[in-house]
Amino acid sequence: MRSYKIAAVVLCAGKGARADLGYNKTLHTIGANSVAAMSANKFAHLDQVVVVCAANELEQMRATITLPNATFVAGGETRTESVRNALCAIESADVVIIHDGTRPYVNKRTIDECVQSAITHKSGVAAVKSTNALKLKTENGCAALDRERVYVVQTPQAFDFDALKAAYDAAPGSYADDSEVFELAGHTCHLVEGSYDNVKLTTPSDFMGLNGAYRVGFGYDVHQFAEGKKLVLCGRTFDYPRGLVGHSDADAPVHALMDALLSAAGLPDIGVLFPDTDMSFKNADSMKLLEKVMARLNEFEVVNASLCIMAQAPKMSPHVMEMRTNLAAAMGIDVSRVNISATTTEHLGIVGEGKGLAASADVLIRKI
Ligand code: MG
Repeated sequence: MRSYKIAAVVLCAGKGARADLGYNKTLHTIGANSVAAMSANKFAHLDQVVVVCAANELEQMRATITLPNATFVAGGETRTESVRNALCAIESADVVIIHDGTRPYVNKRTIDECVQSAITHKSGVAAVKSTNALKLKTENGCAALDRERVYVVQTPQAFDFDALKAAYDAAPGSYADDSEVFELAGHTCHLVEGSYDNVKLTTPSDFMGLNGAYRVGFGYDVHQFAEGKKLVLCGRTFDYPRGLVGHSDADAPVHALMDALLSAAGLPDIGVLFPDTDMSFKNADSMKLLEKVMARLNEFEVVNASLCIMAQAPKMSPHVMEMRTNLAAAMGIDVSRVNISATTTEHLGIVGEGKGLAASADVLIRKI
């Protein structure tokens, strides 16, 4: 079987204004790598990778994309011009596969199937069915489109190199993608099954969840039991002969939760915010303090909170749902996002000997 020379073009020259990052979004890093490098690296197994980027970002791109088979070409004013520049930089190839540098999650299966389709049919364009219902706007309203027959086109898009080069040479204008240029030249585009994971990072919301948008926090608290005190846990008063000693109502699990939330948000802990030297917090209702903490977390939403209450007695399980409900209401989230486990410590240590109660909390918060 003959071997084919396959060249990839990865487009990283876009300004990415819609992402509102203040810099080229393909230079945004996710973990250890830039979006541009994540995208380009997916094509490392091919013969050549041509990276198209802005002339003033050539050095940054060379630093982030270190593939031995990569070459770098300055982009043009439009996507079409950038592809044209890349095609001119390829001396010879049987197939060229073109990919947006803002789609770092493309998989090898899609790439290889697009290439194979280009070998067999002269083109292979990644596309997926719409997950939404589709309408065509009409003069008086709209008309339904048959979702089975409509595809959302992605990249990569692979083509017979000579046919695509000729198509670009014959089309001087600006076009949305390569399949459009190929069709203009009278060819038919063959669709290849793309992937819903192969998203194009475009708007600020696409970058949410990447790099620092999610943050975890941990908090821990212990209070001592004493006769004649009220036992209040997660805003619930227990019918129990002993309660916890503290400057406030000594609601240890709520204290642990507040510290977890504040820690995740990079804020000072409750010892700093609500010091026990401040008499305004004497016997304070910790659920009210939790509301104050939530007000300080206005840049974040709580994804979930997971608490553990450690006590030899009383038994927690009959009251867990009520406590979860209280915490969920204070944090403004659904009760399914708050959970509480309880444990004894097998009569060991200060908890097991009934001297005190301990609580820990883990939270996940997300920047909004
Ligand atoms: Mg405390």
